[in-house]
Amino acid sequence: MSGDLYDVIVVGAGPAGSYTAYKLSSQGCKVAVLEQKKAPGVDICCTGIVSPGCFDSFGVNPEVILNKARAAKLFSPSGKWLRLEKQEIQAYIVDRASFDQAIADKAMAEGADYFLSLPATDIIIDSDGVQVETPRLKFKAKAVVIAAGFKPAFTRKLGLGSVDHFAMGAQTVVEIQGIDEVEIYFGQEMAPGFFGWLVPILNGKALAGVLATSHAKFYLEKLLASHFCQGKVIRQEAEVRQGAIPMGILPRTYGDRLLVVGDAAGQVKTTTGGGIYFGNLGSKAAVEVLSEALDTGNLGAKQLSRYQKAWKAKMGREIYLGYLARRLYQKLSDGQIERIFDIVSSNGIAGTLLDSPSFSFDWQGKLILAFMKSIWNYLPDKISSIFRREIDSININGRQGA
Ligand SMILES: Cc1cc2nc3c(=O)[nH]c(=O)nc-3n(C[C@H](O)[C@H](O)[C@H](O)COP(=O)(O)OP(=O)(O)OC[C@H]3O[C@@H](n4cnc5c(N)ncnc54)[C@H](O)[C@@H]3O)c2cc1C
Repeated sequence: MSGDLYDVIVVGAGPAGSYTAYKLSSQGCKVAVLEQKKAPGVDICCTGIVSPGCFDSFGVNPEVILNKARAAKLFSPSGKWLRLEKQEIQAYIVDRASFDQAIADKAMAEGADYFLSLPATDIIIDSDGVQVETPRLKFKAKAVVIAAGFKPAFTRKLGLGSVDHFAMGAQTVVEIQGIDEVEIYFGQEMAPGFFGWLVPILNGKALAGVLATSHAKFYLEKLLASHFCQGKVIRQEAEVRQGAIPMGILPRTYGDRLLVVGDAAGQVKTTTGGGIYFGNLGSKAAVEVLSEALDTGNLGAKQLSRYQKAWKAKMGREIYLGYLARRLYQKLSDGQIERIFDIVSSNGIAGTLLDSPSFSFDWQGKLILAFMKSIWNYLPDKISSIFRREIDSININGRQGA
């Protein structure tokens, strides 16, 4: 209860926060989770696409899976398409509200206390401990984990900085006909800098969404009215939800008695905007470092800095490469995107990449490099020289972060 001294307070009951709470509780730590919403995952703007490996590592009941995908159709701005297919299932589409609740249920089963409809309003850290304030109650703990999603207020206030680059996403549910595979739409007119999608879920419904540099809702409406959706989308069935996705790493993800995980830390695949998997890896690294620090009683920033080293060593370069690929993509015109589609179709590049041992839904860095190298000879000099310059600037063996 709130008068108790907790080992750890977790702010935010998304996948990163609840997984952290689950792991810490299962190791015997006394954990409180504060969540501002009335239940984990309600009203979230997320497509819920995760790899089977990512899903398995949460250990939740498969009932939360709405659909599975082995293939996707990628559309060029003019409507040409490429179908990518693997024999094995590449992704599950989970219902985010049920998924988040299932992880929270696991944490509660291990003894974590959940406080819902209770936003953390302030975090005060001193040499004796941490105090987290809410409108109704005050909580005390030895350490705090910020897992509040992409909201820079706390990290700024605590001197950790903020992630300045982000993408905006908008999504709704639509009734569909005639499609049963994931479709991704490219084009700067339709989804500047990113892409749009239709992701079939259940009972003739799909998630329709757009990621863009800004004005995602406007572009989603444009997508739904476009030739991509004509004859496929019958009607919109839900209100449009919006969310922001960090495109870069928080400068500091630790402090005295403090760690930051998930979107709050910038642990997101900068290629697709997917953050559930990298957030999960971040949680695992946080739990490892924090458990040891709690055991030894040394919760100082120096000790906890091992967390940042560990997670950046795992995914920092991936995040950087994805960010780089995204920056390059943002420089392409629709005509150039069209040209890349033609090159990829007529040279069997998609098949080669799909069959390559580097192909991975979660780890795309090697594939990005292979893709860039396979197409740059076909591109106009102006674009290919940007590709070359950027790739040359990558310190392949270094620990480059975004
Ligand atoms: C349109 C769109 C589509 C996406 N699709 C995918 C996808 O298909 N696959 C994928 O992997 N990722 C996807 N993402 C990204 C994914 O949603 C995030 O990466 C993921 O939710 C991050 O998890 P998290 O636990 O770090 O944060 P969140 O899931 O954002 O959870 C943070 C929690 O903290 C709570 N909170 C915030 N402030 C406070 C406070 N002060 N006090 C208490 N509680 C607080 C919030 O209510 C929330 O429950 C998508 C994002 C968008 C916008």
